[in-house]
Amino acid sequence: MNPADLQIDARLEQALNQAAHFLQEAGADAPRLTAEVLLAQACGLEREELLKKLILCPSTLLDKAWLPRLQDFLVRRARGEPTAYITGRKEFYGRDFSVAPATLIPRPESELLIDLALKEAAHLDGNRPEARIFADFGTGSGCLAATLSLELGGNWRGLALDKSAAALRLAAANCRALGCAPDRLLFIRGNFYFAPIAGHSLDLLLCNPPYISAEEYFGLAREIRDFEPKSALVPEGSAPRRESCPNQPAAGTEDALCLIRLAQTLLRPGGILLLEMGSGQGKALLRAASQNTWSGLCVHKDAAGLDRVLFGKTHCAEKTQSQGQIPLNKICNIS
Ligand code: GLN
Repeated sequence: MNPADLQIDARLEQALNQAAHFLQEAGADAPRLTAEVLLAQACGLEREELLKKLILCPSTLLDKAWLPRLQDFLVRRARGEPTAYITGRKEFYGRDFSVAPATLIPRPESELLIDLALKEAAHLDGNRPEARIFADFGTGSGCLAATLSLELGGNWRGLALDKSAAALRLAAANCRALGCAPDRLLFIRGNFYFAPIAGHSLDLLLCNPPYISAEEYFGLAREIRDFEPKSALVPEGSAPRRESCPNQPAAGTEDALCLIRLAQTLLRPGGILLLEMGSGQGKALLRAASQNTWSGLCVHKDAAGLDRVLFGKTHCAEKTQSQGQIPLNKICNIS
């Protein structure tokens, strides 16, 4: 359907049906749900309120000012813009985050990083007098840093890093809006190659790095490729490969590999690395990480059974001196 032909009735039920039909014709995912979300946003309502109105009073007339807004939202969605950028919101770990094109839209699979971080934090000695410190590398919208700061106990402080000033501003705004204590979270400009953080000072380092290879990028859905920031998706050093070379890192793992090396210098003895990865990268990252000294190393799978998070634990104090490698047969995959 041509956007110019989009006619929306002023009656609620009809408007919703027409919007859903338009999105379906445009090939958008979940057209009915998306129509509800966009209509609610156009009317300044929560989706639940809209659905209540729909049941109680389906012929309610929509305000004249809402129809052009809805039309604009529908046309943008039909052209591929993600719903989250149109509404400016996305839920992550049960909280509502502001999102903008400067940052990646939070993904449900990244919630596994939070689950694992909370589990690990619970095992750390809570009696230590100094604060525990976590860092979130490539914080983007701040979804990981804000969630951890709110979920962890008062003994924790956090560092949220990003190379983009726009991302750091959004992350800080999200943290403020969600009520994170300002003295417990610090926002820092940094990247996977350089981070202004003291050596061996972190208890927990988590990161959802760019992990899409330059080749994969061209095959991504246009919703992602044409709208989300390439710098948040594709590692800086990733370039299309002409011929296979056994010594180059697996495509898309360039930033992850840097972070693994950096983690060795930043984590305290007994510190934990949690690193999100692409579904086919588990073996390559385990192999690369095993070049360093870890007391534990494994890959956690996501709800779909795909490789998703690399877990690494540095040796406790007395063992950090030894430079031995962890044998590959001591490395496991966890489902
Ligand atoms: N940490 C943010 C997220 O998980 C951003 C990640 C990124 O930009 N690669 O959504």
